[in-house]
Amino acid sequence: MCVGGAVGYLLLERWGGAESGPASVPTLVPSPAATRSGQIKQIARPLITPRAGWLAAAVDHTAENEAGDYSLDNAEGWREYDADLRAMYQTVVVHHSVIYETDDVTTMREIQRLHMETRKWADIGYHFGVGKSGQVFEGRDLAARGTHVEGYNTGSVGVVFFGNFEVESPTVEQIESGRGLIDWLALRLELTHLAGHGDFNDFTKCPGAHMVVYLDTLAQSAGLRLGTDGYVPSEEQLITPPPE
Ligand SMILES: [Zn+2]
Repeated sequence: MCVGGAVGYLLLERWGGAESGPASVPTLVPSPAATRSGQIKQIARPLITPRAGWLAAAVDHTAENEAGDYSLDNAEGWREYDADLRAMYQTVVVHHSVIYETDDVTTMREIQRLHMETRKWADIGYHFGVGKSGQVFEGRDLAARGTHVEGYNTGSVGVVFFGNFEVESPTVEQIESGRGLIDWLALRLELTHLAGHGDFNDFTKCPGAHMVVYLDTLAQSAGLRLGTDGYVPSEEQLITPPPE
């Protein structure tokens, strides 16, 4: 399962959004480093159910806790990255949903509803969801900052696995398709690290003890280091220290 080692490809296309959009399978060309080391890593774009496929609600820019657009004076506002996403993202953060409702599609919809109606965010906070069946869902647009890891959202991709992994284990299908997704994200976004939510926010047990045991395997598969060391503070954090 573990591929590990240096990732030796250059990515020649920009992020294209939803499965149904103009995005195509990434064109991967071996970099000189890959040629020298002889390491070849092919990763297909995973099958991702686009927002329309799970009837996602539209983004609400008037949301109470994520109001307006990001600026240094409105650091909690909706932020669309204006730089190349490969320069913005460093870490993939793994979560569990705790809740599970009927089936995977219903669960994805319920997570979005809770985030928008209860948490008062502009959209679902995570960038991707991974169902118990192995179905992968597009969450928040990857071009927009997520809302899933307090104080460390900038530059962190949020992936939520459905289930409560304090009391149950993820399914084999879930781990396999989650691994495929993270392998692909790591390559495409040139990520450096993988962390569990609780590694950043010690007040939470997320993603649960029965998922934490898989984090090392997921990191190794994607050629990522485990932990929070890759995090780069956002501009406003360099001006104002984050509150304790
Ligand atoms: Zn979490």
